[in-house]
Amino acid sequence: MKILILSDVHGNLEALEAVLSAASDVDRSWCLGDLVGYGPDPEACVARIRGRCSLVLAGNHDLGVTGRLNLGDFNPVAAEALLWTRSRLSPEALAYLKGLPSQVEVPELGVLLVHGSPRDPVWEYIFSPGQILEVLRETPVPLTFVGHTHNAFWAAYDPESGELEVEGRPAGQTLRLEGGRRYLINPGSVGQPRDGDPRAAFALWDTETGEIRFERVEYDLRAVQMKILRAGLPPQLAERLSYGF
Ligand code: ZN
Repeated sequence: MKILILSDVHGNLEALEAVLSAASDVDRSWCLGDLVGYGPDPEACVARIRGRCSLVLAGNHDLGVTGRLNLGDFNPVAAEALLWTRSRLSPEALAYLKGLPSQVEVPELGVLLVHGSPRDPVWEYIFSPGQILEVLRETPVPLTFVGHTHNAFWAAYDPESGELEVEGRPAGQTLRLEGGRRYLINPGSVGQPRDGDPRAAFALWDTETGEIRFERVEYDLRAVQMKILRAGLPPQLAERLSYGF
């Protein structure tokens, strides 16, 4: 079975469409949260993800827009964008976001999906090897997917030797999963990458071959930037898309 794993779409419809068409031959699609916030097309992104993804998590922005998290917990630019987003979402889309879980385990595939981290599914940003090691030592699950930082990476931990391997620039790479090791994987962000590569990021997992491929795809970034500016959203949200930061 081929599974598309995507995260942090943030209302960027052009990036989402580019990812969905680049991964049109998959059997399943999973979304690790933050469907909305920052970007100009929240309603269309919710509808598209709802139609395409069989598993969808709530990220902190999804919880913020529905009022399940306090907007005071966000930085001022994010909070402003969330207020705008809330005003643009239909009651149906808001109800859908409100009902999303913050983590899902698929035991038959040995996989856990969370937005932030297994110990704090909503808020923890996993950046450092120290955090990765702690998480992989504690978890009994062979494979964990996270989003939230908008930085693609993969990490492999061998519980026997205690060895940890981390790859922070996995674009274009294929990771082959090995039995006995535990993996932590971030596919990167579709709609607002922050790892210096402005292209939309995603991952493809082939459960038969045990391979995970880290992909990037270009999209019409200028169109999204124009929409952000026209919507009256904070201009830095348009600008950062150019740099992938
Ligand atoms: Zn996010």
